[in-house]
Amino acid sequence: MRILVSNDDGVAAPGLAALAGAVRDLGTVTVVAPADAQSGAGHGITVREPLTVDRAPLAWNGEAFEAYSVDGRPVDCVRLASRSLMAEPPDLVLSGINHGSNDGICVFYSGTVAAAAEAALLGLPAVAFSASVGPGECLDYAALAAICRRVLDVLLPGLRGGDLVSVNLPRLEGGAAPAGVHVVRQATVELIDSYELVAEAGAERVYRLSQDFHWERHEQETDTTSLRDGYISVTPLQIDLTDYRRLNDLAQEDWSGVTEGSGGGDGI
Ligand code: MN
Repeated sequence: MRILVSNDDGVAAPGLAALAGAVRDLGTVTVVAPADAQSGAGHGITVREPLTVDRAPLAWNGEAFEAYSVDGRPVDCVRLASRSLMAEPPDLVLSGINHGSNDGICVFYSGTVAAAAEAALLGLPAVAFSASVGPGECLDYAALAAICRRVLDVLLPGLRGGDLVSVNLPRLEGGAAPAGVHVVRQATVELIDSYELVAEAGAERVYRLSQDFHWERHEQETDTTSLRDGYISVTPLQIDLTDYRRLNDLAQEDWSGVTEGSGGGDGI
């Protein structure tokens, strides 16, 4: 099995090496990751600028990986790897382990989830792994990677091309084990955050997104509540964002006026 591993924290992030190390016995592992941290890159793609690829020194437990850095976004990494860098497209794409959870609406901002989503767009099975972290907390990536591997072992037999699964790990305070696994939907509630004014000179003002945020409220049985309660959340995501309920509503509107008088009709 050809496995591509990427992330959004950058090629030097310990979570990347730990994830690659956790799956190396499953097949041939290739790591292609952003040269620099790309958290919050979402599904951005580099359109006009060239992408520079370089070999990257990457090892876990003393064993080196075939690894490349790309001076682009996570999505660039997955596309470039699948299209050009790998002799054949991967059979499985993994993203992570992200430093920080990607639950709720964070799936829209997350480069970690985007890398996996891009793989799903390419018809490949993909899993994103993210780990909850407290302020200033150091993560035990060896322990987290071992958990990710056990989650993957359950997922793998049922994973099909185009499948996208987001896995979030709870905070493991004092080395505690997760309470269990919840297969849950993604929360949709608003994230409450703020922008701090950090400098002002004439008409120019400089803002910075505060790292202090919280959820507006909690819905029942979501990825967010599972993490809060100490459970691993497993959430299958889909590429099709269509709202089918509204699709039917909108289809029943009278759209005839939109094209009236714009030629081809009765005319004047
Ligand atoms: Mn990140």
